Amino acid sequence: KGPDPDLVTIAERMATVKHKILVLSGKGGVGKSTFSAQLSFALAAMDFQVGLLDIDICGPSIPKMLALEGQEIHQSNLGWSPVYVESNLGVMSIGFMLPNPDDAVIWRGPRKNGLIKQFLKDVYWGELDFLVVDAPPGTSDEHISIVQFLQATGIDGAIIVTTPQEVSLIDVRKEVSFCKKVGLNVLGVVENMSGLCQSLSDFKYVKMAENGEQQDATESILSIMKEKAPELLNVFAFSEVFDSSAGGAGRMCREMGVPFLGKIPLDPQLCRAAEEGRSCFADDNKCQVSAPALKLIIDK
Ligand code: ADP
Repeated sequence: KGPDPDLVTIAERMATVKHKILVLSGKGGVGKSTFSAQLSFALAAMDFQVGLLDIDICGPSIPKMLALEGQEIHQSNLGWSPVYVESNLGVMSIGFMLPNPDDAVIWRGPRKNGLIKQFLKDVYWGELDFLVVDAPPGTSDEHISIVQFLQATGIDGAIIVTTPQEVSLIDVRKEVSFCKKVGLNVLGVVENMSGLCQSLSDFKYVKMAENGEQQDATESILSIMKEKAPELLNVFAFSEVFDSSAGGAGRMCREMGVPFLGKIPLDPQLCRAAEEGRSCFADDNKCQVSAPALKLIIDK
């Protein structure tokens, strides 16, 4: 029996892609798509040619996170064309194929695998320095397919995104062991939402009245700060939100022998940038806390 013709086509397509990175998470809602989107923005800002492929078929959030909602995929004689944010940042997602963004995609494994295969076979990316693949959470059919398809052409490895709580880390351990079983290199683990970091000027201050009511004290406190200690307006307050007494992702990485890439705090500015589909690194809306944290991780 000869080689699988689909794998041959995928290998041909992927021959123009230098690096392939899979972004994984054990659970949903930990910031995997946010990380994939901001990683792609950052690499594109470094002048690399970047493709972002969203294979989270049941919950494609990438179009929104790059402000590409409502865009459609076009077909050319070379294949499906990605939707471009910039000339060096192309995006492909099932979100572009759904007539109504509120529609649920209720597909069984084989159909999802078929679409992933088609994404890899039919999308014309051209020359890419990086292909970032945003996978669904967990270790299901889609993961086995994408790893199998990409391994045939060489894949750099996976970045796993988690939050610091033990319930999230339990699933990351499974994700790491999945990678080990299928022979996928773990490039490292990112701890997202590790604590809340807010500028003091972003706070809403309340004062307790004698009758127990909360009174808004924001204006008066900010005006005192502005007058007496304006430098405080640029001070950030950091608070632990989730229990990380067991050591968080850093400790888990040491135990499992995989690299720990760093922490990104819960940052309202990053949430806003993600919701609006903007880069957190852009000068006009730089996220003061999370952008430097993300940059350190990406440089690694
Ligand atoms: P996942 O892909 O793991 O399901 P998302 O990337 O969709 O998670 O993130 C879930 C929500 O949390 C989004 O609204 C996103 O903007 C927000 N979010 C993610 N990371 C952060 C962060 N570090 N600070 C603030 N909000 C964040």
